[in-house]
Amino acid sequence: MRKVTKIAVIPGDGIGVEVISEGVKVLNHIEKLDPDVNFHFEYFPWGCEFYNKTGKMMDENAMDVLKSFDAIYLGAVGFPGVPDHISLWDLLLRIRKGFNQYINVRPIKLLEGVKETLAYVPNDEIDMTVIRENVEGEYFGAGEWLFKGTDKETVLQTGVFTREGTERVIRYAFELAKEQNKTLTSISKGNALNYSMVFWDSVFEEVSKEYPEVRTQSYLIDAAVMYFVTDPKRFEIVVTSNLFGDIVTDLGAGIAGGMGLAAGANINPEKEFPSMFEPIHGSAPDIAGQGTANPLAAVWAASQMLEHLGYEEWALKILSAVESVVQKPELLTPDMGGSGVTGDIGNLIIEYL
Ligand code: ATP
Ligand code: MG
Repeated sequence: MRKVTKIAVIPGDGIGVEVISEGVKVLNHIEKLDPDVNFHFEYFPWGCEFYNKTGKMMDENAMDVLKSFDAIYLGAVGFPGVPDHISLWDLLLRIRKGFNQYINVRPIKLLEGVKETLAYVPNDEIDMTVIRENVEGEYFGAGEWLFKGTDKETVLQTGVFTREGTERVIRYAFELAKEQNKTLTSISKGNALNYSMVFWDSVFEEVSKEYPEVRTQSYLIDAAVMYFVTDPKRFEIVVTSNLFGDIVTDLGAGIAGGMGLAAGANINPEKEFPSMFEPIHGSAPDIAGQGTANPLAAVWAASQMLEHLGYEEWALKILSAVESVVQKPELLTPDMGGSGVTGDIGNLIIEYL
């Protein structure tokens, strides 16, 4: 009997809706090609439009409902009129934290055929995976606002790095580096952040003893961002904290061809809860509804989702289909230099599958 894989689809707002539709097209096609694949999609209309109607980004029982799914496929949320902190905290971060998706995986790979991003770096030298701590650290949300409105006004923002949280993300990265026989780089800032990053460095050092076969290096964040643009081939697997990861992965998106190609996975490795897969760009109100959004990031995220769900072969096939279509930029969306429309890109991918 074919096992049913339950996927919760949250297209969200703006171009989120347009790009997710292409990703689902591709997944539907795979289901047709492979008798062993059986997806059940369920759509949830959550996001800013929902918020404007109900005062909430998601239904009250959203987390209970989502819990029964194998994965969540998310477009993008956010729209003018709804403050960013509401759309972020009440949907994205609620899911990330609530389902303990403590690993963020961001492939940073500049595909052959995509216009070069750094004049002096060949495309194939930009090929790394960043593992970002996704639920604690600098974005833990702890702090205090003291003496508000007085001349002594002082604001504290506290990073929280637990032993458990630090060790598990570093260990995840070591496992990946070992499996892929790649060099693992830790990015931190132990010279200035005298508690959190000294701790991070010591945990990295400790865990590295369990993986003598993995080559390692450590960079300060400031040096790392320079090498991202001057000599990115230094990096293969990167592990870093929530804030530094946020920054280097956007830098990574920049050197890997832009927002239209950047995908991210929010993983709960124990599979105790569903993991969530998304193009990392926003709802892009400036181009929403025009058919110019590039859905390749969403398609890439679908590939990450299939890999996580155990369909590794299809994950690779989607990725090589993406690699093939980027060889023909004239058929792609304007951000890739073409005159194609969003709604046609899914079919291009399908042709290659
Ligand atoms: P956020 O609030 O998360 O920053 P945003 O809506 O501002 O979201 P970004 O992801 O920051 O969107 O993207 C910035 C700009 O890049 C967009 O306004 C849009 O013009 C362009 N862009 C983003 N994603 C895509 C895409 N998939 N295809 C084409 N252009 C895109
Ligand atoms: Mg933005």
